[in-house]
Amino acid sequence: MASALPAPWPTPHSPQDRGLDALPLFAPPSGLDPRLEAFLQQASSLLCTWLGQTEMRGPLPALSVLPSVEPERQGLGGDRLLADLQLVMEGAFHPGHPGALAHLDPPALTASIAADLICAGLNNNLLAEELAPSLSHLERGLCAWFAGALGLGAAAGGVAASGGSLSNLMALVTARHSRGLGQCGEAVVLCSTDAHVSLVKALAVMGLPAQALRRLPVDGHGQLCTERLADELERLQRDGIPVIAVVATAGTTVRGAIDPLEAIAGLCRRHGVWLHIDAAIGGVFALAPEQRPLLAGLGRADSVTVNPQKLLGITKTSSLLLLPDPAQLQRAFGTGLPYMEPSWGGGHGGEMGLQGSRPAEILKLWLGLRQLGLDGITALVEGALARRRRLQQLLAGDGRLQLLEGPLHLLSFRPRSGSHEALAHWSEKTRAALLAEQLMLSRPLYGGVHHLKAVLGNPHTQPSHLERLAAVVAAQPCP
Ligand SMILES: *Cc1c(COP(=O)(O)O)cnc(C)c1O
Repeated sequence: MASALPAPWPTPHSPQDRGLDALPLFAPPSGLDPRLEAFLQQASSLLCTWLGQTEMRGPLPALSVLPSVEPERQGLGGDRLLADLQLVMEGAFHPGHPGALAHLDPPALTASIAADLICAGLNNNLLAEELAPSLSHLERGLCAWFAGALGLGAAAGGVAASGGSLSNLMALVTARHSRGLGQCGEAVVLCSTDAHVSLVKALAVMGLPAQALRRLPVDGHGQLCTERLADELERLQRDGIPVIAVVATAGTTVRGAIDPLEAIAGLCRRHGVWLHIDAAIGGVFALAPEQRPLLAGLGRADSVTVNPQKLLGITKTSSLLLLPDPAQLQRAFGTGLPYMEPSWGGGHGGEMGLQGSRPAEILKLWLGLRQLGLDGITALVEGALARRRRLQQLLAGDGRLQLLEGPLHLLSFRPRSGSHEALAHWSEKTRAALLAEQLMLSRPLYGGVHHLKAVLGNPHTQPSHLERLAAVVAAQPCP
């Protein structure tokens, strides 16, 4: 086979073919290249070392130096590439630090890390079945399983999306299409004041004015007031204003509240309105048997967003849009994909949503769930809840604080009194004092004033960290 003739086209020149640092640009199609294998192993070692230094380094890195951003004229060899990677890693946030409690970003699940590597190496494309035969099948199967587990029915299914914002957008586009409201400029979406900001983006993308998002008040527990929703639906019907969807939230961003799903589902049914449930945070709680009742009514939704990247530690991004009737997705997004072979296995991934080419993100979700097992999922959920309860108990002992808790693993708080400015100052000071102790909280604006927020999804957080947190807060003067 080997030909003495020079190749008729330029081959990408691998300068390292000269030296010890040799690294092929692409894996040879035949035979295992030991240089490739060694490089991937070294990269894995680098990562494992970084992971192992998490506690030593604190959640937020000190200022770091970045390598040059532009490619050099000559391509680099393995050693230089690894050194560059190391520099970027030096400046990375450490989600696995026990004090990393600011956001919905837990450490990466081990099986998910490996699946992400394999996913990159396979470089398949969920756009079309022939570009990802086994993975298309896996995505359909796992979405059906997940949707079934959330109670969406035997025919349920869905699609993976790169994040919950995209899942929410696709849900609203699907809802609008199913109601034949694609050309209607007056249609509205109803949600609570505590619904996620991604809905604002979704409406902008859908060409709707900002006022088309009708935000209804929440009660003292941060749950959408169903009486107000009932009134609003009546009024809109009377005025002949069409409703694209009601969006209920299962797990609000600041306090983890769950809207009254059963009651909202009943109202939507009565008015023939699409119900989308944004369960990006709360959806996975339905997989823990004792917490299932919290999500009662979830199975009555027309679409559900769930983000396994949030509590379960599936590497980002991992979001699913699930529907009792997944064929709705093809109806809303199908183009016929004229340059692809017809589907043979249940539909091309690119016909199920907004994304065209996309990675097989399903692989890291599938392998991660297999690693956890149902008991492991339950343990993660229950552990997070136990930490929230413990922190709540500790902070409740400080009578100066007002706590905003919900049934999930989020807890926000602030001093009971104080002007906007005083609360902004308190939250800034307290966050800095906590950071000095390697405890990282976030500082959300809620109801117009600053709060501190803890997300208790980090499995490395011990009771001692929570006790230290409460002590630092207690030592801060309140306005
Ligand atoms: C995180 C979140 C989203 C958005 O998800 P991304 O993956 O960040 O795009 C939407 N809704 C809720 C309730 C969320 O918490």
